[in-house]
Amino acid sequence: MTRYIDADVLLLDLTYQKATFESVQGGRSGLFAKGVACGLDGAIQSVKNAEAEDVSPVKHGKWVEYVDDRWGASYYSCSECGKPPLKEERTNRQCLSNFCPNCGARMEE
Ligand SMILES: [Zn+2]
Repeated sequence: MTRYIDADVLLLDLTYQKATFESVQGGRSGLFAKGVACGLDGAIQSVKNAEAEDVSPVKHGKWVEYVDDRWGASYYSCSECGKPPLKEERTNRQCLSNFCPNCGARMEE
């Protein structure tokens, strides 16, 4: 499974690591310091050059139950968009799917 990360957060972390390393080194310019700085610069550049995928955050929701006092029947709606789930064609009962068919939220158990 592909794992997506926030490139801006990663860049901030790498930049922070480089600045921290440079401050600890106190301006010394030995081979080790140059190697670490060069490695961090390479990582920063790689993240900047990486092609961005078109992804959106996963919404998480749950089916919220409410009871019609007049009939004593339970109905559900999505906690994210407020819309009801699909109904089974044969029985006309609400089908509590793993995803909201309206907004795409992933439903928790
Ligand atoms: Zn929804």
